[in-house]
Amino acid sequence: MAAGFFGGVHPAYSKEMASGSPIRKMPVPESLVVQLHQNLGAPPEPVIKRGDEVKRGQLIAKAAGFVSANVHSPVSGKVKSIGMYPSPVGSEGEAAAIIPDQQQEWAEGAGDQSDLSDIKKKDIPELIKEAGIVGMGGAAFPTHVKLMPPENKNIDILIINGAECEPFLTADHRLMLENGSEILEGARLFARAIEAEDIVVAIENNKPDAIEKMRELARGTDIRVEGMDVIYPQGAEKQLIFSLTGRKVPAGGLPMDVGALVQNVGTCYAAFQAASRNIPLIERVVTVTGSGVREPGNVLVPIGTRFGDVIDFCGGMREETVKLISGGPMMGVAQYSLEASVTKGTSGILLLGMDEVEQFENRACIRCGRCLEACPMRLNPSALSIFAERIEYDRTEEYNVMDCIECGCCAYVCPSRRPMVHHFRKAKAEIRKKARG
Ligand code: SF4
Ligand code: SF4
Repeated sequence: MAAGFFGGVHPAYSKEMASGSPIRKMPVPESLVVQLHQNLGAPPEPVIKRGDEVKRGQLIAKAAGFVSANVHSPVSGKVKSIGMYPSPVGSEGEAAAIIPDQQQEWAEGAGDQSDLSDIKKKDIPELIKEAGIVGMGGAAFPTHVKLMPPENKNIDILIINGAECEPFLTADHRLMLENGSEILEGARLFARAIEAEDIVVAIENNKPDAIEKMRELARGTDIRVEGMDVIYPQGAEKQLIFSLTGRKVPAGGLPMDVGALVQNVGTCYAAFQAASRNIPLIERVVTVTGSGVREPGNVLVPIGTRFGDVIDFCGGMREETVKLISGGPMMGVAQYSLEASVTKGTSGILLLGMDEVEQFENRACIRCGRCLEACPMRLNPSALSIFAERIEYDRTEEYNVMDCIECGCCAYVCPSRRPMVHHFRKAKAEIRKKARG
């Protein structure tokens, strides 16, 4: 399958460090810090207070509005406090610190089995909303919103995103190998919700075992599995839709504008868990990798587990580690503390040594123009980064910074390694803040 889209880059993928490691389940840690705002959109409102006893899967923060997502306790235990704690998105966020108990009891109804074929189309968005499911590829956009398009939007294709184009990350790869049939069940649920006729699982060709596994599981069904060219950011929604269908999502538009819905494989798995066992989104697979960790691998982690505890579970950090990142090297966020905790959007914990960091580090612009050639959204990252540095956010808006998908291709090809994604995120946040008044 040709990549098709403009721009893109070929970074060193470095996936072999973790791709052969089966998913290991991490035991419940001694304490957790569950961030309450883990979704794109409005922050949910806490429904617990200090001193409360909570059960596993119990609601602890309720979605506040349509674009918001419930949060549930990943453990049973006692709420030690609610306050500001380090968040992997780069600052502090309101969070519940919970001390787990020995019993690890489920909340009432959690774990109850259901037959997926009994679930009616109209009930699916509410079920997904109740379970607090968000996009697990990193964006953390509330999934139920995507399942409720306006009546004038007809979605005919559901794309299951198993591209996993970020270097180093292998969580989706392992999930497809180990839980492929559950992913397909979740995908069918999404297809039923939006009445999509076509279901395609898209996987980059650097994961031939996952392609083979998913094809074997999909054989005899109406689900197709497509191998995709290996080019970053093949897994970005707009680029993936174009590569598969030739349809171009307009500037400022959404996949539904071209009749498409994209869901990550982890999101499909979460939907299966919610629909078949009434288990909300309380744990996720995280790739812990890079030359700075002793035992790289893929770990099923209770949400709220501190990065330091996850790293200890993977044998600990090597002394030569110079950089810690939440996510991958292209789109991830640098961390300055091991105290940040895993959220629904944490796809990886990356510990890089000096050699790895040099590929991704930054200096000053020499106006070479390479970033313009690499940008898959045809933006002018050089100009945007200069405006953003000068805090001229109106100019960044004029130059369409809101269309930036934060893929990091510009920073990757930049010989000066300018911190462009950081600037663009800041500019977008300021523009959104201004629009809200
Ligand atoms: S400007 Fe945005 S969309 Fe374009 S390459 Fe840079 S990060 Fe990607
Ligand atoms: S690639 Fe880097 S140095 Fe070259 S024009 Fe873009 S920002 Fe400037």
